[in-house]
Amino acid sequence: CGIIGYVGDESAQPRLVSGLQKLEYRGYDSAGIALANGDLSVTKRTGLVGDLDLPASSPQTIGIGHTRWSTHGPPTDANAHPHTDCTERVAVVHNGIVGNYDDLRAELPGHTFRSETDTEVVAHLVEEALAEGQDLPEAVASVTERMEGSYALGVVAAGFDGIVVARRASPLVVGYGEGENFVASDVTPLLEHTRSVSYLEDGDVAVVTRDGITVEHEGQPVERARHTIEWDAN
Ligand code: GLU
Repeated sequence: CGIIGYVGDESAQPRLVSGLQKLEYRGYDSAGIALANGDLSVTKRTGLVGDLDLPASSPQTIGIGHTRWSTHGPPTDANAHPHTDCTERVAVVHNGIVGNYDDLRAELPGHTFRSETDTEVVAHLVEEALAEGQDLPEAVASVTERMEGSYALGVVAAGFDGIVVARRASPLVVGYGEGENFVASDVTPLLEHTRSVSYLEDGDVAVVTRDGITVEHEGQPVERARHTIEWDAN
């Protein structure tokens, strides 16, 4: 029910944890984060963000986090997000419902699924697209074209220095920092870092790196208006 992402020069882990805690008011049954410099590391479980079994500190500077309100598959550790592909090089967080996940799963013989969620199919489809030679932004764009239903997606992959996000009918905001950039389900967790944000629109795919944020819509680069948030969180 909440998505957060960080890429910059600082440790991602505490920023993801504090961001998820600011999204707690949305309600959730499970939480998790994926860190993505070099190899991928995923920590997830049922319960609160504070219950995650995380190392005391982490040098990794790219990551995504999720709080889950389960729609497909009960709240279990395996069903918590992020979800990974067979190679464990791709991690996906998702809010919403992949309406045609059954059909998409059927198109992936040979893939071993480890959860009962609608979301996991996205990680495997991205894996296939990468194997066909697409880069991560192309892979996410082509996979979203095959998805029905609603989504806010955050995707990281080993070896890609950023986060690819996409949305349709689920909210997603990007935040602009100095040498760091952010993504979140709403502006609340961004306010301690930046007041400069853009709201993504339905069908947008954005690439969030340390140095900038680019947005595409139906394969064409687009600019989304930048807003300055004047109000305080509490
Ligand atoms: N449909 C997904 C699931 O059940 C995402 C739920 C959510 O938006 O938190 O895992």
